[in-house]
Amino acid sequence: MSAAAVQTRERELPIFSTQTRLLVVAPHPDDETIATGLLIQQVQAAGGEVQILLLTAGDNNPWPQRWMERRVWIRGTDRQRWGRRRHAEILQALQLLELPRSALQALGWPDMGVTECLLQPENTGVSTLAAAIRQFRPSLIAMPSLDDRHPDHGAAHVLVRLALAGQAAPPQLLAYLIHGHAPDGGFIEVRGSSHEQAIKLTALAAHHSQMALSGNRMRHLAARPERYVEVSSIPKEPSSALPWQPSAWLHPWLRLSVASAAGVQSWRWKDARLQRDGLGIYHLPTLAAGDATPRFAKLAWDLPSPWIFDYWGWCEL
Ligand SMILES: [Zn+2]
Repeated sequence: MSAAAVQTRERELPIFSTQTRLLVVAPHPDDETIATGLLIQQVQAAGGEVQILLLTAGDNNPWPQRWMERRVWIRGTDRQRWGRRRHAEILQALQLLELPRSALQALGWPDMGVTECLLQPENTGVSTLAAAIRQFRPSLIAMPSLDDRHPDHGAAHVLVRLALAGQAAPPQLLAYLIHGHAPDGGFIEVRGSSHEQAIKLTALAAHHSQMALSGNRMRHLAARPERYVEVSSIPKEPSSALPWQPSAWLHPWLRLSVASAAGVQSWRWKDARLQRDGLGIYHLPTLAAGDATPRFAKLAWDLPSPWIFDYWGWCEL
């Protein structure tokens, strides 16, 4: 480990100890190893406790499944079988990271359906996350970045933030990014010893179903130092301004959603009663300045698309 890396880590992360309780929020099997394989090992080595909160079984994963099972059509039962396979793979990966079976808590939400879980009218997704966090009492949470372009990842970030809203002493929050462009600076970097890196790559290989078509990409992601952006628990000054200015011809096909601890709202763009200021910035006037924070908005296509990644994604208001 370089001196610079040691300095960065000591300045930004707490010293891990037997008191450290790391909760890794992973939308899919393999996120835990790619994003936090080194962090997990370092917390374990210090005698801390680690739990993985797995949101989905990664069952909606058609191209690797078509390739490995030599089938074109994938029915519901095929998806369930694929999900069981990926569940077995994550258990093997965790074993290689020396975590017991009990360290995995799987919620079994639908793969590519985390946004839908978040946007349920009763905030049940947030309640589920809040209960899991309360039960484990983490001192540190590693979770996806709000800027991640995979919709399940962005939604997972929002769920964790809303689950922690109003907590007097929230755990330290570290956001990891897998899909999209990581920031050039301002991150905490965890580097591993060659032994820790080797164990991480062995755990990655346990995700056979993902290595079949994307082994090079997976190894490239896992070989990077682990980078996290610390998410501040200090409430942001609320704003009604949206960061997007989509062209008018797109408006009929756009949907805007807002999620906060007060609940969720979703409109077609034209029904959101947006106001445009002199600078051309759109505002959601229905958001009162005094409303509870954090609150988040998402802009998305309101029509089915084969492209799974978010174009606009989420922002914090
Ligand atoms: Zn993922």
